[in-house]
Amino acid sequence: MGKALIIGAGGVASVCIHKCCQNSDVFEDICIASRTKSKCDALKEKLDGGKTKISTAQVNADNVDELIALINSYKPDVVINLALPYQDLTIMDACLATKTNYVDTANYEPLDTAKFEYKWQWAYRERFEKAGITALLGSGFDPGVTGVFSAYAMKHQFDEINYIDILDCNAGDHGYPFATNFNPEINIREVSAKGSYIEDGKWVETEPMEIKRVYNFPEIGEKDMYLLHHEELESLALNIKGIKRIRFFMTFGQSYLTHLKCLENVGMTSIEPIDFEGHKIVPLQFLKAVLPDPASLGPRTKGKTNIGCIFIGKKDGKDKTYYLYNVCDHQECYKEVGSQAVSYTTGVPAMIGAAMILTGKWNKPGVHNIEEFDPDPFMDALNKFGLPWKESFNPELVD
Ligand code: NDP
Repeated sequence: MGKALIIGAGGVASVCIHKCCQNSDVFEDICIASRTKSKCDALKEKLDGGKTKISTAQVNADNVDELIALINSYKPDVVINLALPYQDLTIMDACLATKTNYVDTANYEPLDTAKFEYKWQWAYRERFEKAGITALLGSGFDPGVTGVFSAYAMKHQFDEINYIDILDCNAGDHGYPFATNFNPEINIREVSAKGSYIEDGKWVETEPMEIKRVYNFPEIGEKDMYLLHHEELESLALNIKGIKRIRFFMTFGQSYLTHLKCLENVGMTSIEPIDFEGHKIVPLQFLKAVLPDPASLGPRTKGKTNIGCIFIGKKDGKDKTYYLYNVCDHQECYKEVGSQAVSYTTGVPAMIGAAMILTGKWNKPGVHNIEEFDPDPFMDALNKFGLPWKESFNPELVD
């Protein structure tokens, strides 16, 4: 049915590429392009021989001209951006110049400020509309499936949704005292930032990890979770009618937090460049180089993830609560595609988002967040491609 150019060859890209090959009726031809071509070639070698035709290319996604040249030579129907958030705008520029659809899983972040907001990408709306191409923003799990869950709850369960709590629990144990489950630089920037949530249309800021709750997660049990700032709060507060408050919580174990505090205290999580033996280095980038590669955690990680949304609102004049979630098992993911569940839960929705565009189900010129589309075909695809969802009408609530 179509051709996809996948940019990036890391943990998330690897899962997405496996899933494109499982969905070969839609993904007839894919090109894997990244900074380090050997990683693309290794993925091709692993997956070649099926119905999906695979090619590889080297590209520096910070360079718009290189991206344009690659898109013009390969001529994809959609570009799936699975590099880092820093590359979002250069890749969107190249898509605009070549009139190619665009999908990503994380919003743009400037390298020098750890602050994620949609304003930079939303500024492309009119240009994408005029070019007649679709940009689908945030097609991972959170953001991503959490937005699809919200659109589904709104469509089928509520007349209005007043409160959303997004709960992200990773109960996986990789056996290391400290490691991150996805790109360490992005992960540490996210968790060491101030927390925030939206109440009555305004952002309320908290100190990092200031708000803690304990939640009894289905199929996992009790875990400590902390309120974080998260990008989908911004778009969901605009797109879901009737929202009074929306929060995001993520679980962290004590060992992770103690190590993080220590690394912060000694300055290792800073993104300010420092002089080191005549070079400028960014401490956080150096830390990334000494931490385990998230891709190497796959075989070691045991346990489950549970990510979902608790909705509180009204249906037919009555109060209603509803919980939609997915439980994913690290070892099962590893058996299937050779990656742990954090990459899996992001790579599967990235493939599904691109499939929605390739099959014409979600074509809407402009720049859109995922909850702006009809959730039903995406919800069906989640069940089909390894992320089945569950629902509860009487969930434990977060105070
Ligand atoms: P990895 O670090 O494993 O992979 C990133 C890949 O991008 C690497 O192959 C890297 O190349 C490549 N890359 C980086 N810079 C460039 C560049 N300038 N040009 C070309 N390629 C480049 O990250 P993950 O796979 O863990 O994460 C990928 C994305 O997914 C991130 O944006 C992350 O924020 C997002 N994410 C979203 C989630 C969600 O639920 N929405 C959850 C988890 C992640 P090289 O190998 O040379 O370093």
